[in-house]
Amino acid sequence: MTDCYAVIGNPIAQSKSPLLHTAFARQFGHDLRYEAILAEPETFRETVLAFAAAGGRGMNVTAPFKLAAAELADTLTERARAAGAVNTLKFDPDGILGDNTDGVGLVGDIQDRLGVPLAGRRILVIGAGGATRGILLPLLQARPAGILVVNRTAARAEALAHALEAAGRVRGGPLEAAGGQEYDVVIHATSAGLNEGEAPPVDYRVAAGGLAYDLAYGEDTPFMRQARDRGAALAVDGLGMLVGQAAESYRVWRGVRPDVRPVLEQLQLA
Ligand code: NDP
Repeated sequence: MTDCYAVIGNPIAQSKSPLLHTAFARQFGHDLRYEAILAEPETFRETVLAFAAAGGRGMNVTAPFKLAAAELADTLTERARAAGAVNTLKFDPDGILGDNTDGVGLVGDIQDRLGVPLAGRRILVIGAGGATRGILLPLLQARPAGILVVNRTAARAEALAHALEAAGRVRGGPLEAAGGQEYDVVIHATSAGLNEGEAPPVDYRVAAGGLAYDLAYGEDTPFMRQARDRGAALAVDGLGMLVGQAAESYRVWRGVRPDVRPVLEQLQLA
């Protein structure tokens, strides 16, 4: 029998999820159908529940519904609870599981694909929106020396750091808090600077052999250019994270982990 999955969001036409999951299914010879569903805030809940009632096995959730999906789930994984946001729903006979695979997608891309270990490294995260909420706990679990989160609205960065304060290695502050210091890994997680825009004016240096990682994707983003000017030998966009989070969703649903490399190469060529 064909297993049905979907991605839900608004807008949704731009989503690469159907392409990614169809490619993963091909790797295993799985018989599945994956569709893109456009929802409105008023219809999100009933659309998800109707998809599950019709036999759907799982859903990816994208903007602007990640918080609503966390509320809808019966159970949350630890990383979804820490994020307060869900990008993966799994419909089990005993209820709806909510998970967040964004952070694992990022950490896997940095450590496994790019070969940059995070343990003991100094990490700077620029931005404190939904994406940052999703990546902080998995980043911390990779045992860096410390994480500084800076944001245009400082209170948001401070609140995120405060929520993880038991771990003790996260600080938050305004953009100026980066203070011209050197970091081993700089992660750009704001929605500024796409297309012809500018990356936020943050004063940092990238250590020798360090990494600059833009969560946004594009051939050569403003942040990647900025980071190279500040010493980054390696500056990459977020396509690897996108494929990584999808692969982790696939594993949550079906218990097997797809090979991300050929799918990423296919996307990069496109
Ligand atoms: P949100 O809307 O939740 O947060 C936006 C963030 O950008 C906030 O920190 C906001 O600061 C900051 N910001 C916006 N405009 C400016 C500006 N002009 N100057 C400085 N800071 C600014 O977005 P998300 O966190 O969901 O997404 C952030 C980025 O990450 C997007 O580009 C998104 O596409 C990408 N992303 C990539 C993923 C991947 O798989 N590669 C997965 C998820 C996200 P403030 O709080 O002050 O408003």
